[in-house]
Amino acid sequence: MTSTHTAQCHCGQVKITCTGEPYPVFMCNCTLCQRRTGSPVHIGAWWPMEDVTIEGKTKAFTRTTGEQGREVTFNFCPDCGTSIWWGGQTQGDHPLVGYYGIAGGCFADPEFPPPTHSVYERTKHPWISAPDGIPCFSSTFDDPSVMAEIREKMQKR
Ligand SMILES: [Zn+2]
Ligand SMILES: [Zn+2]
Repeated sequence: MTSTHTAQCHCGQVKITCTGEPYPVFMCNCTLCQRRTGSPVHIGAWWPMEDVTIEGKTKAFTRTTGEQGREVTFNFCPDCGTSIWWGGQTQGDHPLVGYYGIAGGCFADPEFPPPTHSVYERTKHPWISAPDGIPCFSSTFDDPSVMAEIREKMQKR
């Protein structure tokens, strides 16, 4: 049987059901995610869009992100404010096109798969450590070889 993971916002109005295991799972230490989540580190877990069901109403906030000035739209619960999903682009050549990112903390599951990559370590709080052996980046992961590896692993899942 295929596993499912279920995320919800703080009040429970938004519920997201994901089939299978996420890949990649980023821990992001950037200052924008720190403000957005109210937490020093954000966990972003990615699934192909067809494996994700989103229920409930959300509002969107778009920000320009990273050195490339890419626009990312974050979707949050209008009742409780939890920033719960983003991505969902269907066009472009970024490896995460066709994928939804879901906030790892919204699964509230201690068994949730750990991060596979750590990004924006230059603004990481010094007491936070990435899991042993995962690739860590001072800013984003936009190195062509890393992008290629992520893309390859995504196609295999
Ligand atoms: Zn809510
Ligand atoms: Zn971030």
